[in-house]
Amino acid sequence: MTDEATTSPQTPIAVASNRLPFSFHRTSKGLERRHSPGGLVSALEPMLRKRGGTWIGWPGIVPRPSEVIETDGASYRIAPVLLSESEVTRYYHGFSNRTLWPLFHSMSDRARFDGRDYAAYAQVNERFADAVVESAPDAGLIWIHDYHLLLAPRHIRRRDSTTPLAFFLHVPFPPYDMFRLLPWDREILQSLLACDLIGFHVRGYAQNFLDCAERVLGARVHRDAMLVEYGDRTTRIDAFPIGIEFDVFEKLAANAPRPREIQQERVVLGVDRLDYTKGIPERIQAFEKLLERYPEHREKVVLLQLAVPSRSQVNEYRELKREIDELVGRVNGRFATASWSPVRYLYRSFRHERLASLYRDADVALVTPLRDGMNLVAKEFVACQVADPGVLVLSSLAGAADTMREALRVNPYDVEGTAEAIHRALEMGENERASRIAALRIRERRDDLDAWTTKFIEAATIGPAATLPLADTDFVAWLGGFIDDHRLALFLDYDGTLTPLCEHPDQARLSPAMRQALQICAKRPDTDITIVSGRGLAGVRKVVGEEGLIYAGNHGLEIEGVGIEHFEHEDLIHYRARSEALADQLDEIASHGAWTERKGPTLTFHFRAVPEPVREGLIEDARQRIAKAGYQPRPAHCAIEARPPVGWDKGRAVLHVLRARYGPNWSETARVVYVGDDQTDEDAFRFLAGLAQTFRVGSPDTPTAASRRLPDVDAVQSLLEWLGRRPEPRL
Ligand code: UDP
Repeated sequence: MTDEATTSPQTPIAVASNRLPFSFHRTSKGLERRHSPGGLVSALEPMLRKRGGTWIGWPGIVPRPSEVIETDGASYRIAPVLLSESEVTRYYHGFSNRTLWPLFHSMSDRARFDGRDYAAYAQVNERFADAVVESAPDAGLIWIHDYHLLLAPRHIRRRDSTTPLAFFLHVPFPPYDMFRLLPWDREILQSLLACDLIGFHVRGYAQNFLDCAERVLGARVHRDAMLVEYGDRTTRIDAFPIGIEFDVFEKLAANAPRPREIQQERVVLGVDRLDYTKGIPERIQAFEKLLERYPEHREKVVLLQLAVPSRSQVNEYRELKREIDELVGRVNGRFATASWSPVRYLYRSFRHERLASLYRDADVALVTPLRDGMNLVAKEFVACQVADPGVLVLSSLAGAADTMREALRVNPYDVEGTAEAIHRALEMGENERASRIAALRIRERRDDLDAWTTKFIEAATIGPAATLPLADTDFVAWLGGFIDDHRLALFLDYDGTLTPLCEHPDQARLSPAMRQALQICAKRPDTDITIVSGRGLAGVRKVVGEEGLIYAGNHGLEIEGVGIEHFEHEDLIHYRARSEALADQLDEIASHGAWTERKGPTLTFHFRAVPEPVREGLIEDARQRIAKAGYQPRPAHCAIEARPPVGWDKGRAVLHVLRARYGPNWSETARVVYVGDDQTDEDAFRFLAGLAQTFRVGSPDTPTAASRRLPDVDAVQSLLEWLGRRPEPRL
């Protein structure tokens, strides 16, 4: 994508959401396409029409072989992502709606954790990501929506590293203690952090995300600036409370006839999808309590509860429906008279025209979800107050409560408190009602859906956030308490960690500043440094050239240095001659700038200079020769390593050094810090998990077992400088 494409405000935009702005229905004439009337669609479509762009989503049906998903005729591109029945079951009904939905609403008891659902979710997300990259190559912004697509950003970023990438979550983001229950917590956070911007409805959710990024991933978090740094990427986090199409609802309310559901009684209105997050049973109980405590409302007030059928094939939702049916029956049985039933319960969907008239003519809107990302019903009710002003009773656990402070707030679990609030709403004088509604209306008119879209896109396209230089406070927070008064056993990889990766290993030299930082650390009597490298032992000794260190070459197969005996893995003896023979064989195929690095018992075949068209074939040839010679071919940076299959790696090498240097109870004596950038360092990160502070240097897109990430070699230098000047221990 060009620079111009990423900066112009009018460049096309790619929107990805679970559903397309259409749904498809099976009719006798084939599949019929119907426009989905949702608010988000109305907000994004005009923008897509104006700027051009692509909407990527699932068409909501599994087509039969003869059926066609028609994508022509829209004023922007449509890219359908087709799913099989089993993918719909596992990705959509499974992981999205039975794992993420309850967990993100802090209802962990209802969450099901099933690895097969997760695997399907991951696969489908990858398919969405491919569709985004392939169908919208001209996009100046990629905007991903909601909890169905949490794993898409990372795949998109792998294939497209430059286009601004933003995510908006339409549900709550749960607190750390809830989020960490998810067995795939790291994967989800790492994926989201591939974005330039992540938007949430309210600041509380954004703060939860910052907590999780810090505590689950060990990312660097700036709470004031709302930034997360992870590896070499910085992501902006912010709250963008979504609004509604205020004018549309206001107009509908101004023109709608009086609804037949509202007669002479005063109306307390509830409007929800039938979902366990909405608190419908608690609400009916609160209304029952109202009638019990304040008999004056009997025969004068009704609770009109609309419930839109939702996910009705799921058992839990069917059970909830039964529970509500029974409750309605009980309350009506208890209080109904010949001419009055206290609860009118309508289980179906209403069009916005009808809803607008109900909102307008209701006396009280009872919006009491147990947890809700935002809640649009509260906002729609406010927009429709064009006649006698009604009162909004709003759950403090809905995102909407963050801004709609003139509503009467309730805790939806507090049945008595909610009953009191309904009573107060019914008794409220006109002046107070008018004042509260006026303030709510001014805000919702100003912060409508259009304002939300504009604000989000502006924030998503202002360019990458700056990375703040690492400061002492970061190192103190990460390592201060950990090292405390102990000796420090510091393990450092060389290439890519202490020096940037170069075309040829001979060019990778320590910078004077890095050398100085290393020397200062090495001189400290409380610090022992081991350089752990894939280079041969002699090679790494020579290139670092500092006395007083321990060197582990060939990924730790050979170790020597201060304070320990020379070590060589006992099986290496069989590999020296074999390695020479293999190197000769590899030299035979080393064309187009490929070459063999001879490292004693092992070798590395480098192909950085080899042009793409011949690379693949050459790599395969080298891999086969390496395997045939009895070595394991292992991928490295633009190279393949021939590793002796002796069950030894950097993790075991670290353990060897620690035991040789400090004895079997080494963890009593020393605190271990390991810094590396390479796949081979992962063996050490895994071994050291829980035993050390480990840092992986470089791109956040490669999965890591390290406890933290550092962006680059400069950050490693800052770390060494801090370690060099940290306070002396009181040993
Ligand atoms: N809605 C509707 N018909 C109905 C009931 C509700 O179109 O019979 C709409 C309502 O206007 C609102 C949306 O459904 O726009 C519900 O949004 P909310 O944020 O309140 O809850 P969600 O269902 O997204 O959890």
